[in-house]
Amino acid sequence: MTTALNDPRPKLDLPPARAMARRVTGRSDVMLQRTLKSPIRCAGIGLHSGAKVEMVLKPAEADSGIVFRRTDGDRPVDIAASWRNVVETRLCTRIGLPGGPFVATVEHLMAALAGSEIDNAIVELDGPEVPVMDGSSAPFMFLIECAGVVEQPVARRAMKILKEVEVGTTDCFVRLAPASVTTISFDIDFDSPVIGHQKGEVRLANGTFKSEISRARTFGFLHDFDKLRAAGLARGGSLDNAVVVTADGVMNEGGLRYDDEFVRHKMLDAVGDLYLAGGPLLGRFHGHRSGHHLHHAALVQLFSDPAAWRWVDLPAVVPAIDGRFAATA
Ligand SMILES: [Zn+2]
Repeated sequence: MTTALNDPRPKLDLPPARAMARRVTGRSDVMLQRTLKSPIRCAGIGLHSGAKVEMVLKPAEADSGIVFRRTDGDRPVDIAASWRNVVETRLCTRIGLPGGPFVATVEHLMAALAGSEIDNAIVELDGPEVPVMDGSSAPFMFLIECAGVVEQPVARRAMKILKEVEVGTTDCFVRLAPASVTTISFDIDFDSPVIGHQKGEVRLANGTFKSEISRARTFGFLHDFDKLRAAGLARGGSLDNAVVVTADGVMNEGGLRYDDEFVRHKMLDAVGDLYLAGGPLLGRFHGHRSGHHLHHAALVQLFSDPAAWRWVDLPAVVPAIDGRFAATA
């Protein structure tokens, strides 16, 4: 029975235990699920496709999770924002249905939804990729704030990590481990004097995602752009939506938004990729030179062992913690 309850495979690809989340009436000691107050729309281009796309974020029922909806076909097609639907992890995270439509570059929007503690939303798109906006999560955070957020009378649940899980090699790996506060730590080591070795750690609570992580932009090397474009990638990439790194600096007017913007963006990607768990993870993530592929592999590994995690209700009162970015990992 425990196995069945913990089985993350669902109808609609949402963990079945979600449907059993506690309904709350009156004052409660548990945190409540949240959705958007009203729909909100934006338009932009896809980082990799270069295609124009319009996106509408819409409120959704409690326990329905985040669902992407492609509206440009004969009829709308829903793709649950689930690790089970990940079909590609090269340079971005792409979710899709077998042989059917897909949505690429979901991670920066998923990070904004995670950082804004939105449990339930529909993301309508009239194209195959989430608009890149400025290459960070900040424009999505702003959209969500403009739409407003409402609580729903159902307990907010997290997947508490009970056992350490590690995937990868000594060169690049991801480790998930138990912790009482969701913590993201990362270190990167690039063969570029502009980036070099950067490391950091943030505890995610009380809005720290927004202040410490959300503005960090995606980045790429000038010398890679031609190669990427020939491979059909980064077609929409420009100085408007990515930090472009040269041999001795960055090309963007205005420079970097944080001294260590690169590692902060990697943390942003991790927050977004992990939200494909189907809800918040309560535990510690450490990424060592990892990327979308290993983030996904870590979720697959976690959910392959029903004893490695369990659902918990989140308490209404979040302990006061120092959530500032620390350059340690
Ligand atoms: Zn990214």
